[in-house]
Amino acid sequence: MSAALGLYRLQSVDRQIDQVETGLARIREILDNDAELKQASGLLEAARRNLHHTHQEFRVAEAETVDQRSKIEKAESDLYSGRVQNPKELQDLQLEVASLKKRLAVLEENELASMITVEAHENALKEASSELEKLQARLGTEHQMLLTEQARFQNEMIRLTEEREASVKPIESALLRQYENLRRQKKGVAVAGIAENSCDACGVLLTQSLQQNAKSNVQLTFCPSCGRILYMG
Ligand SMILES: [Zn+2]
Repeated sequence: MSAALGLYRLQSVDRQIDQVETGLARIREILDNDAELKQASGLLEAARRNLHHTHQEFRVAEAETVDQRSKIEKAESDLYSGRVQNPKELQDLQLEVASLKKRLAVLEENELASMITVEAHENALKEASSELEKLQARLGTEHQMLLTEQARFQNEMIRLTEEREASVKPIESALLRQYENLRRQKKGVAVAGIAENSCDACGVLLTQSLQQNAKSNVQLTFCPSCGRILYMG
């Protein structure tokens, strides 16, 4: 087997390995990145806090109206008890009841507004909770698919690693180093084929003698333009 052919075969395995590695890296990144999930849980947590807070506000408003009603009850019972006879005192009491009732109307409005807010937050919590459930269900399926794909890639990688070992064996170590340096410098393509009298990596037209050299296998032939090893199949 010519050196160029050996390197060409090795490169074909190496490029498959590159692809599998890219695929594995992509899957790892998706599996690690649970940003969506974090965001949905964060929203649910915030909705819970909001509801708790508005619930407390509602309790306070509720207690205030209860308190106000009992004040009114007491003032009215004083007013109608017959115990107070003095007209001035009676008038004061009447004014007090009227003032307490006026204040009660305001407090009741607060209570109602507070109740509406609680309901809105209850709905927001339900929504956030169902969003999170949906997301978890979707990611569950997605993750399952990714794990299957990952296992497939990993098996592929085992096979390719064995294939690479076999491909590397017949290649001289100096050549292998040259190949690996070129692959690093030339975006993963160290060996270029020849198609339509041209280097299939950079497209430059190759002379007949250069193509003969590449075919003769005596020594490596390099593309005069891109510097890659030429392989004539
Ligand atoms: Zn070239």
